[in-house]
Amino acid sequence: MSGIGMENKPKLVDENNLRIDGRKLDELRPIRIEAGILKRADGSAYVEWGENKVLAAVYGPREAKPKHIQNPAKAIVQCRYNMAPFSVSERKRPGPDRRSVEISKITGDVFESVLFLEMFPRASIDIFIEVLQANAGTRCAGITAASVALADAGIPMADLVPACAAGKIDGKIAVDLKKEEDNYGEADLPVAIIPRTKEIVLLQMDGNMSETEFETALNMAMDACMKIYELQKDALKRKYITDQEVDAEQVEKPNTSRGDNQ
Ligand code: ADP
Repeated sequence: MSGIGMENKPKLVDENNLRIDGRKLDELRPIRIEAGILKRADGSAYVEWGENKVLAAVYGPREAKPKHIQNPAKAIVQCRYNMAPFSVSERKRPGPDRRSVEISKITGDVFESVLFLEMFPRASIDIFIEVLQANAGTRCAGITAASVALADAGIPMADLVPACAAGKIDGKIAVDLKKEEDNYGEADLPVAIIPRTKEIVLLQMDGNMSETEFETALNMAMDACMKIYELQKDALKRKYITDQEVDAEQVEKPNTSRGDNQ
């Protein structure tokens, strides 16, 4: 899609409809989600998605500062998506650029549509997304991680928000494009949904597709979102069970390391 070096374009789909990494057209890359991995944040999550590695940390609701940014009627959502300099093959210049400002904005907008912001006037809910390693699809991995981090922080919201892209490669519609597919493919369509209502809260498109192709890609991305939703819930359940086990252990074995000899 970027159009760079299209003369060296590799074959993206073979005669058996398999992709460069052996995936089928409707197959996701392997995804692993962990909830609650950072102690200092109110909520956190880590997502490994193919070669993407993304951390999300959440603070709040807490008093929005400086005061002039406060909204007396509801909480504000502030999001920062950042790519580490070592996250891509050539060192990325540290700090915000147009792309990260855009992704921060659209991610904040996604969560404004699911969080119950009216419950927390004058407050801020702060979302930090750090991309440690990138291989296309990082905005979707970031939204998926941030959503689990918000739930881990116990911030009330209508539902978790899974995100996934679909696109067009070698004229075929495929889900979850990796870097080469994103670079040399014809289109990319990142989507985020509210699973319970099937409402679409993010829809972007880069490249060209026909109306029919668009519909196929949208359905494919939404089906993938439903699979990711299950992984998000599993991650939260695992965290909850582990926390309960730790609590139970502490009840069974009261802390004997301090004060025994006093
Ligand atoms: P997404 O990561 O959501 O797919 P883009 O389509 O903008 O977002 O980017 C696709 C991929 O291109 C990124 O995941 C990353 O691997 C790569 N990329 C993005 N920005 C840079 C950059 N500044 N330098 C090198 N690679 C980049």
